[in-house]
Amino acid sequence: MLIDAHCHLDFAAFDQDRDAVIETAKRVGVEHFIVPGTTRQRWQQVLALGQRAEISVCAGLHPYFIADHRESDLTELDDLLNEHPEIVAVGECGIDARFGDTLPAQWDYFDAQCALAKQHALPVVVHCVKANDTVAKRLRQRGLASAGLIHAFAGSYEQAIKFVELGYVLGLGGAATYPRAKRLHRVIKALPDDSFVLETDSPDMPLSGYQGLRNEPCRVSEVCRVVAALRDQTSEHVAACSRANTLRMFRLFIRP
Ligand SMILES: [Zn+2]
Repeated sequence: MLIDAHCHLDFAAFDQDRDAVIETAKRVGVEHFIVPGTTRQRWQQVLALGQRAEISVCAGLHPYFIADHRESDLTELDDLLNEHPEIVAVGECGIDARFGDTLPAQWDYFDAQCALAKQHALPVVVHCVKANDTVAKRLRQRGLASAGLIHAFAGSYEQAIKFVELGYVLGLGGAATYPRAKRLHRVIKALPDDSFVLETDSPDMPLSGYQGLRNEPCRVSEVCRVVAALRDQTSEHVAACSRANTLRMFRLFIRP
């Protein structure tokens, strides 16, 4: 039984066939989906999806959409977390160092969301691009007891272990399926069983062989096969590890 630990099912890319996408995923064994929130404007759509038994939701302010955020969104996020105990994490938040001009603002929003996560005793879902060392350092300083998910991890083994030692789990997705991703493959081979979750980041981050196409949660089963082959484990074992790690990190209860 699989879980897609990170997919944007609220995005407009799924407006035409969202139910069919979920059914297709269920047919290949995906039993649960975790949908992060990216902007204040989208939180209500995300919460609406969270009404479904098979979907858990998060709320946050994504660094990619920094131009959409206002400082008052942070107060609203605080209120939202108070009003909606079904929200399982703060995120997607984080740092994307490809966008250097907005980095100071990205750090402000990230710090504020880490503070909210701590205050509400929730994990964080972290988007971290070309900033693994600085983000790990900040998370250590912050001392978030509930830790969280470093989504779409793409760093070195040393960086991976830094996050794992802080209690975080690493999200493995489409990037793992590319033959050229040698460094990531070495990380995946060496990770402990309790340190990773499987995800797709749908509709983004298509797998190898699907470039240019919309990514979908059903492909988490292919991610699972690739990760299992790299780790010389069965797909069943990798799926079970990912499931247990996801349930632990987000404190979910799903019937087996
Ligand atoms: Zn995402």
